[in-house]
Amino acid sequence: MSEIILEGVGVTKRFRGLTATDHVDFAVPKGSIYGLIGPNGAGKSTLFNLVTGYHPLSEGRIVFKGRDLAGMPIYRRNQFGMARAFQISKPFPALTVRENVGVGAMFGRPDRGAQAGRETDRAMEIAGITHLAARRADALTVGELRKLEIARAVATGPDLLLADEPCAGLNPFETDEMAQCLRNVRDAGATVWLVEHDMKAVTALCDRILVIDAGKRLAEGTPSEVVNDPAVISAYLGV
Ligand code: ADP
Ligand code: MG
Repeated sequence: MSEIILEGVGVTKRFRGLTATDHVDFAVPKGSIYGLIGPNGAGKSTLFNLVTGYHPLSEGRIVFKGRDLAGMPIYRRNQFGMARAFQISKPFPALTVRENVGVGAMFGRPDRGAQAGRETDRAMEIAGITHLAARRADALTVGELRKLEIARAVATGPDLLLADEPCAGLNPFETDEMAQCLRNVRDAGATVWLVEHDMKAVTALCDRILVIDAGKRLAEGTPSEVVNDPAVISAYLGV
């Protein structure tokens, strides 16, 4: 039995008449890459927004490192060890990669402030952008920007990194690099929660996968358990 770092019980979000997530349960093992997949409109981003604190829950609870997150604002979740990598990175364009990652290290967990320089180098190493350290952010390709975004999040010293479709729009080479980047994050000791809609990418990368459809949990398990699940095959793969 592995330790659970993040647990959701009956996680429900209603937007007026629409139930975007409907009593979803999940348990994310510490040190894993945890995938969340489902068709468009399934409720993936909503679930993500509930975990990060962007929306309050309508019902249910989310527990991170043994603590119920109800009412905890986004910045407190960050300080408590949760970081989010955005799909559209908005770095300071005229600053170098190293300076941009350094901002993440400075605004990360207060208990790690004294080690900001070391955290910056470590985060660039993990994201595979050490060779770009002196480059201005406005000279980066889309794939490099995505990795910079991961590095900025990693520099805050998270126990849990959340990434919403980090491979969207990347070419196959950049996608492989992003997959390696996320494996590095896990191997460095953090847990990764990953939203993707491409089943193939998720099964190759994730230790466990949660499949949702129309707000409801459809299946949960290892990649082979999930792809062989009849409910997943009929509802998600459409065969
Ligand atoms: P996914 O990320 O899986 O594509 P979303 O979580 O974005 O799905 O959306 C799930 C459902 O919730 C959709 O029907 C969407 O229109 C609805 N929804 C998401 N966010 C909001 C919101 N802020 N207000 C109203 N409806 C929303
Ligand atoms: Mg989404």
